[in-house]
Amino acid sequence: MSRKVKCLIIGSGPAGYMAGVYTARADLKPLLIEGMLQGGQLTTTNEIENFPGFFGGVGGQVVVDKLREQAIYLGVEMLPRTVENVDFRNRPFHIVLDDGEEIITDSVIVATGASARWLHLPGEDEYRGFGVSTCATCDGNFFRNKTTVVIGGGDTALEDAIYLSNLCTKVYIVHRRDAFRGTMALQNIVKNTPNIEILWNNIPMEIVGEKQGFMKKVTALKLQNTITKEEHQISVDGVFEAIGVVPTTELFINQLDLNEQGYIITKPDSTATNVVGVFAAGDVQDPVFRQAVIAAGTGSMAGIECARFLLEN
Ligand code: NAP
Repeated sequence: MSRKVKCLIIGSGPAGYMAGVYTARADLKPLLIEGMLQGGQLTTTNEIENFPGFFGGVGGQVVVDKLREQAIYLGVEMLPRTVENVDFRNRPFHIVLDDGEEIITDSVIVATGASARWLHLPGEDEYRGFGVSTCATCDGNFFRNKTTVVIGGGDTALEDAIYLSNLCTKVYIVHRRDAFRGTMALQNIVKNTPNIEILWNNIPMEIVGEKQGFMKKVTALKLQNTITKEEHQISVDGVFEAIGVVPTTELFINQLDLNEQGYIITKPDSTATNVVGVFAAGDVQDPVFRQAVIAAGTGSMAGIECARFLLEN
């Protein structure tokens, strides 16, 4: 089974949907492969205060639903599949989907985003899904009236801690330094929330739990103070890791130029990759800003550049 298109978009966050909006308006009849998590990282964001047009806070799912509707309205075809394999050696490019369908395409926009990074602590694999998570909005509900800890000092850690403070009796934030890197607005909320306690200058060492038959649960997090080097532990029911993201680029190893962190390298002031006819937008090529609005912006750029490229070729 195979089909031919002018433009294939891989990934369905703000970057993919906006690339769809621009390429559909250029009459390229884009096909968008939505991937496993339709809507991407924003779907696990509880509230966004800084997306244009939505003041007073809006759920991440609401934003992606609206972007998706807009793309469909303008003519983007959505396919709820994942990509198995890409071959960018010759144009048209060949892409194989998880159901075996082959897509032959004149251009590709990669918008596969990023996913949560794990600490790889002792105990983490054992208790993943049994009290260890990277998604507070997905799993926070399991910890109503319990004690949790969030690890990290960026926007995600601060947002997660605020979200959990409304459900849990107590929330610790464990951060390896003595200052957060997250936005001041979030820092102020965190510092003024009575049931959030910040443990500065601490690194997590081990997740501790207990097992009874098939049941297992987290009971504590072992920490080390980075200044005194003393080890201690806090009693917790849930551990939320919020230590940043890794770009989703496994598919593109040996196909596109990636930097040492695995992000796709794009040309300056452009979304063009090293392969002519392949563009990249959103968090998959952005190790610096990683904001939904910027992903939407670079998605639009990719749509414009892709349309120009096809017109000229
Ligand atoms: P981030 O900004 O990279 O922060 C990661 C945090 O984890 C840092 O505080 C870092 O400590 C800590 N960390 C990293 N590795 C660690 C390790 N091995 N052990 C202990 N701590 C570790 O990641 P993020 O918070 O996920 O945010 C990612 C991007 O998304 C950012 O650009 C952020 O602004 C954006 N974002 C925006 C919003 C929003 O605007 N509403 C919401 C969420 C995320 P150090 O500070 O010491 O490096």
